[in-house]
Amino acid sequence: MGTQYDLTSKYDLAVIGGGVIGLSIAAQCAKNGWRVCVIDRDRIGKESSWAGAGILPAGASGLADDPIEQLRQLSDTLHAQWAEWLYELTRIDTEYQRCGGLYIARSPAERATMRANCLWWQELGIEYEPWSIDQVLSRCPMLEPQSLADPSTQSTSRVDFYWVQRDAQVRNPRHLIALKAACQTLGVCLIEQAKELSLQADGTSIQSIAFTPDEPGNRVKIVADRVCLATGAWTGPLLKTLGIETGIYPVRGQMQLYRFDRPPFACVVNEGHRYMVPRKDGRVLVGSCEEEVGFHKENTQEMMDQLADWASSLCPMIRRVPLEMQWSGLRPGSIDGFPYLGTLHPYTNGYIAAGHFRHGLHWSTATAVLMEQHMRGQKPLIDLEPFRLHRGNVS
Ligand SMILES: Cc1cc2nc3c(=O)[nH]c(=O)nc-3n(C[C@H](O)[C@H](O)[C@H](O)COP(=O)(O)OP(=O)(O)OC[C@H]3O[C@@H](n4cnc5c(N)ncnc54)[C@H](O)[C@@H]3O)c2cc1C
Repeated sequence: MGTQYDLTSKYDLAVIGGGVIGLSIAAQCAKNGWRVCVIDRDRIGKESSWAGAGILPAGASGLADDPIEQLRQLSDTLHAQWAEWLYELTRIDTEYQRCGGLYIARSPAERATMRANCLWWQELGIEYEPWSIDQVLSRCPMLEPQSLADPSTQSTSRVDFYWVQRDAQVRNPRHLIALKAACQTLGVCLIEQAKELSLQADGTSIQSIAFTPDEPGNRVKIVADRVCLATGAWTGPLLKTLGIETGIYPVRGQMQLYRFDRPPFACVVNEGHRYMVPRKDGRVLVGSCEEEVGFHKENTQEMMDQLADWASSLCPMIRRVPLEMQWSGLRPGSIDGFPYLGTLHPYTNGYIAAGHFRHGLHWSTATAVLMEQHMRGQKPLIDLEPFRLHRGNVS
């Protein structure tokens, strides 16, 4: 059966892209009365937002000057509220929890990075504690002492441990299902399998969005007062059709999912860019990596071996439980690490919310609230100027 949608009237907002960013914006705007549609060329909520780990590192407790920290801080506050709101609306538990984060630094380079990180945490008022091996083992008995040794010296005295109590996680596939269900409850029209999507513009106004629907037939057109692009890693090719360049590019991350009978530890375990994320049902995610390989979404044996070696070097039990799944996703990398949030100049009714790189699940709540304020012509809670589309690295 094809998607049912109303082509006879105008939407207040059409969001292109049904990942966590597009769905969050749609839900936020529909909650406050707008008639919204979300158009995706594939299935909603199945790209990077599904592939991610759902780690939500703690936000600043004081006033943050840095625009990224402001985004993190607002998101941190909003995630707790959104988990409750989504549960009330949909009865879906997204497993949002302040599970805490353990940071391990075994190499000299990682120890130096973590010490710099501690200074940053202090400046932001993020509480952390240096931990001893005994504290680590009482919290995470499945991590074995010999496995926590610096591989070159076999001594745990050269390993640094830090604990951040306020680090959180959300089970992102469930968060997406909840967002989708919330959108449906709020009357958002969700259009999937919209192929060969194009934007028709007249001067500085986007007039309509055309696409070929999932069932063979004529092209259809959607008309909306505002159009917001939330197309993740694929934003560059779409914008190119409008003659606009962005600094957004795909960065592949590979993942593994192991199945324990019950969670081997309760917190997120981090070391550099690698992590293990325990879910409540005993599944443990192991990730990840940053690979610039274009739009190629597959797993490589080499990376699967590296992830398994790393995880089992900390938690040898991993070698004895089934590897349930492996996958990869394309993060929307941005050239300066900042997402693009704001108006899609030169179009006065076009908007962009893309390029969240490793943080889109985290920053999705703040993005939704700020984008709604911006699109309504209100002053956003956080100044969006540093996130503008044309900021020196793009033309
Ligand atoms: C391995 C991995 C681990 C991660 N871990 C974390 C984490 O722990 N914490 C965190 O905060 N973030 C994490 N991320 C990053 C996060 O997942 C992304 O930043 C976020 O999902 C981006 O959301 P999005 O909605 O912009 O993109 P996506 O989820 O990729 O959605 C984009 C959507 O746009 C659609 N689309 C694209 N082009 C078109 C078109 N032309 N027409 C119509 N539709 C189109 C796609 O089909 C897709 O559904 C991780 C990512 C990966 C890959």
